Amino acid sequence: MKQVLFVISAAAILFSSCNNQNQVKFPVTKTFDCDVLVVGGGPAGIGAAVCSARHGAKTILAERSGYLGGMATNGLVAPFMSSTTPDGETLLIRGFYEELVNRMVEQGGAIHPLKAQIGSFSAYRDKGHHGLTTFDFECLKRTTEQMCVEAGVELLYHALYVKCDTRGGKITSAYFATKDGIWKIKAKNYIDCTGDGDLAYHAGAPYIYGDGEGGVQATSLFIVLRNIDWKAMDAHDEACRKAGDFEGQFYMREILAAREAGEFPMWRQKIALFQNLDGTATVNMTQTDDVNGLDPEQVTEAEITGRQQADYVVKFLRKYVKGCENCELAQSAENLGVRETRRIIGEYTVTTEDAKNSVKYPDPVFCCANHMDIHRKGYVEYVARNTNDPYYFPYRALLPQKVDNLLCAGRCAAAERPVMAAIRVIPPCFAMGQAAGTAAALSVAEGVGPKQLDPQKLVSTLKADGVYLPE
Ligand SMILES: Cc1cc2nc3c(=O)[nH]c(=O)nc-3n(C[C@H](O)[C@H](O)[C@H](O)COP(=O)(O)OP(=O)(O)OC[C@H]3O[C@@H](n4cnc5c(N)ncnc54)[C@H](O)[C@@H]3O)c2cc1C
Repeated sequence: MKQVLFVISAAAILFSSCNNQNQVKFPVTKTFDCDVLVVGGGPAGIGAAVCSARHGAKTILAERSGYLGGMATNGLVAPFMSSTTPDGETLLIRGFYEELVNRMVEQGGAIHPLKAQIGSFSAYRDKGHHGLTTFDFECLKRTTEQMCVEAGVELLYHALYVKCDTRGGKITSAYFATKDGIWKIKAKNYIDCTGDGDLAYHAGAPYIYGDGEGGVQATSLFIVLRNIDWKAMDAHDEACRKAGDFEGQFYMREILAAREAGEFPMWRQKIALFQNLDGTATVNMTQTDDVNGLDPEQVTEAEITGRQQADYVVKFLRKYVKGCENCELAQSAENLGVRETRRIIGEYTVTTEDAKNSVKYPDPVFCCANHMDIHRKGYVEYVARNTNDPYYFPYRALLPQKVDNLLCAGRCAAAERPVMAAIRVIPPCFAMGQAAGTAAALSVAEGVGPKQLDPQKLVSTLKADGVYLPE
């Protein structure tokens, strides 16, 4: 009992906080100083760190894994979702994203989104997704790492952000759990790219979790399969198309037959396989509902369930799907795919009506045209738009309320739920990162806070760096 009390009181001392002045008290074994600290090395964090460093800021990127890419590598999420107009004709997300893709294409590690519809098989095509980018996971890790190194970003892997100090509405330091103990990083500006808004949350920024009433989108554990006979699959695909056998759903006949036999995996409504460059398939067919992605116990349980479902999926595909008769599980993702947790409430929060109607802002930082699709229990809800024009994302939606030297990019930025369901895909996250990193560096250079930065200066810098913002 004594021991339990000691542990509880020690934890209380270590993580005690008060709202205005939040000071963490525990021994720090190493301290760093920089201009811009980026927390989280997923698509948003990569874009943020490289663009911050390129604009002259001494930048540290801290990541809990031993490599970059976030969900796009440790979650085995592929392909990069659309970065084009709905007809697949015009690339909307350019700038850093296009540069990265071009570098990967040069190495044979990606197919450019404007060429992606030719030749390769994709279950997504029938859903009207155009302009996808097929890519190789290892090429993404290597290329993004190289771009960070070239830009002068100080990479810090195996560093889990756990808490921050705040004073007078600003973050003064961030703390990381490492094998060496607790490391402390002080910065002028901070960028939260954790996907979950961990830093924003601890700093006291207001936020919304999921639907605002405790509900969140479904989680899925991605898997990769090998030994697929793509020729047989393509031939079957073609035959089904000719026979008009699709009904808007890929492999509908097999799904119906399996359903009748009580053998279709119940968690997902569709067969979702995507052909990778090396002939393997990325498969998104497991699903767990009502999982709080911030709770390690729930995530652990969902990962165990996901791997059991994966085994079932493999057996199902072998039995029902042409070309998959000999397929084998190559790997399951290191991390559960969490679609939704916290989103900050920003200086501006992009509304669903804004996106539906392509509303323009004085401070746009990127535009896109992705579907707004919410993954609910047993089905996907699509939110229709009133126009096919691109919609925009304003700088103010990267700025959380109540914290002055923090920007939030990627899945935790400020957008209403259906909008974030669209822009959380990988290309817009890179774009948000580019905007946040550029803004953070400009703000340091100009000696003003991110909220005082002239948005026109940011917009013109982004345009000069290749970001596409049609008038
Ligand atoms: C099931 C599922 C299917 C999807 N399918 C697609 C798809 O087909 N195509 C597509 O383009 N997008 C898809 N997405 C969306 C996309 O993968 C993510 O929304 C996107 O990667 C978010 O980027 P991010 O940089 O905001 O966050 P993440 O990719 O989640 O990256 C966050 C990074 O921060 C690190 N991190 C988190 N917390 C901490 C901490 N406390 N300390 C240190 N590091 C931390 C993580 O390790 C990670 O590297 C899918 C997502 C899911 C969940």
